Amino acid sequence: MKPGTHTIGALLRGGATDRAALRAPGRATLTHGALQSWLDESPEQIAALGVGHGDTVALVLPPGPALATAFLVLANAGVAVAPLNPDYQRAELEFYFDDLQPGAVVLARGATGPATDTAAAHGLPILELLEGEQAGRFSLGGAAGAARASPARPEDVALLLHTSGTTARPKLVPLTHANLTASAGNIMTTLALSASDCCLNVMPLFHIHGLVAGLLAPLGAGGAVYCPPGFNALKFAAWLQDAQATWYTAVPTMHQAVLARAQRQQGAPGDAPLRLIRSSSASLPPAVMRELEASFGVPVIESYGMTEASHQMASNPLPPAARKPGSVGPAAGPEIRVRREGGWAGVDQEGEIVIRGANVISAYRAAEAVNAAAFVDGWFRTGDQGYFDADGYLFITGRLKELINRGGEKISPREVDDVLLEHPDVAQAVTFAIPHPKLGEEVAAAVVLKQGATLDESELRAFARERLAGFKVPRRVVLVAEIPKGPTGKLQRIGLAQALGLS
Ligand code: AMP
Repeated sequence: MKPGTHTIGALLRGGATDRAALRAPGRATLTHGALQSWLDESPEQIAALGVGHGDTVALVLPPGPALATAFLVLANAGVAVAPLNPDYQRAELEFYFDDLQPGAVVLARGATGPATDTAAAHGLPILELLEGEQAGRFSLGGAAGAARASPARPEDVALLLHTSGTTARPKLVPLTHANLTASAGNIMTTLALSASDCCLNVMPLFHIHGLVAGLLAPLGAGGAVYCPPGFNALKFAAWLQDAQATWYTAVPTMHQAVLARAQRQQGAPGDAPLRLIRSSSASLPPAVMRELEASFGVPVIESYGMTEASHQMASNPLPPAARKPGSVGPAAGPEIRVRREGGWAGVDQEGEIVIRGANVISAYRAAEAVNAAAFVDGWFRTGDQGYFDADGYLFITGRLKELINRGGEKISPREVDDVLLEHPDVAQAVTFAIPHPKLGEEVAAAVVLKQGATLDESELRAFARERLAGFKVPRRVVLVAEIPKGPTGKLQRIGLAQALGLS
């Protein structure tokens, strides 16, 4: 690979200097020219704060354009950026800070709360971010030092994200510039993105979906990104119109909320030149796809993404090619195969989905045993089950990994077990998924109390709420005398909802 190519800096070099790059409600526009000059100057400025090439920096920032540019500017300086969910509680932040060992933490100036307290308790240098007038403009203050400034290379880690999976604690996924720019390029191709596109980005910017599909791909095409402060169904129509968005990408629960409002108001919300709607991160019910297309009059493109693949793996194509409701489409970037015991699956045969390509990680930052289990013959095991139809369209049918997909938010059930087990009155705890009409899956837990304990469901949920971000807190906690066992006598999460009459 030639130096200078396959980096985020190089990807963002293509935009016409006078065109909008970043926009936000009530903010002045940041042009591609301004963003490019900023990227050129910033490595020196970042180094003067004591953070340099090869360092890790955690971001705990509210949603909005400054979180987007903080990622771009720091990654362009060769920093490995770890954006964290601002809803994390102290116990979660302690885990992430321990695992990441960041050289600094970026917080909004004047911010208070668990992130400020935990960073201070860990003795981590804090960089205070102060937003400017233009969308995404910020200055950083706080620590000072003299780190090495040198531009990022393709093999440098740009983004550090954690994924929930089979292990109790989330695994660390190091994504390089080469991985991320390959994925952004795949999305640009799938959606035929150009400089005249504007993406309304309502996805969280601490998740791969929002960072790659909602930020890098549209900017890489020379187009614009409109970054509101997170998702809000009530403001969505106004944002769509203000942005004059040509597309947006979201998870199915957001689409459902947008659709419910559009249906109440009878008609597509806002007056925007939309040309497509994209859905990813959880399965899109075919009825929602149909109704969205009818309400907005544009194609709804369902894609299949994953953190370890820098997001996109498969996608339904734009018209005139066919999009199939219930399918995530043909491979759209990496190679995808379905593996069965003893070989590859044939058409319509179910097996484990495996992938390989430039957008896929080569290893977790984890123990050797974890990586040995994650790959087979050079193919990355997604932990998802599915099959290809005769047209090469992929259908996802299930999961081999222990993960709850709550409308796109992923929860490791063992992490929730561990928190419940910390309660002195809890003898056993098993977290599992229960079906939910909108979210697809919701978190529930079966708990056996210690003898003589008189704890109730709401006390246990309150205990969990102090230690876990809201989306991980079980909505139902069922107190049982014994946890039902599977046919082999083993504790099984799958089937628990049914055994307890919750499905
Ligand atoms: P994440 O790493 O948070 O992007 O989560 C990746 C996982 O989300 C995948 O391994 C799938 O289990 C699930 N997923 C992503 N996109 C889809 C989709 N379109 N349909 C069904 N499941 C999906």
